[in-house]
This record gives sequence, C-alpha cells and structure tokens, in this order.
Amino acid sequence: MPLYEFDCPGCGQPFEKLVRSAAAVNDVVCPNCGNPRPRKKLSTFAMKGSSSGSSSAGSSCSTGL
Ligand SMILES: [Zn+2]
Repeated sequence: MPLYEFDCPGCGQPFEKLVRSAAAVNDVVCPNCGNPRPRKKLSTFAMKGSSSGSSSAGSSCSTGL
C-alpha cells in the first residue's frame, strides 16, 4: 500500500494516508476537519529542491538559471 500525501483545502492541514488502491483515493477524507475532497500531492521523491508554496503553473521551470 502506497502512502500518499494530501493537502486539505478546508483546514489547510497536510496529512498522510495509506491508500490501498487508486480508486480509494477518492474515499479519503481529511482527519482534521472531515473534508471529503483533499487534494493528493505528488510523491515526495518526485519533487526536487524548491519548496515554494503554490506550483500551479504547469511543469515548465525555465527560470533561466
Ligand atoms: Zn481539513
């Protein structure tokens, strides 16, 4: 069972949850406030270095460094 990270849009608290299948991700609720629609975050090992707040602007990171 993979461990997924979630971000709750209701209370803003991140949490982790063991999910037995991809379909079960839709059944995950926030343990803090009970929000039924937490947002699944990408796997921790998938992101490298930068820990900026919101990364909603696509996957192109050409900042010219
Ligand atoms: Zn919550």
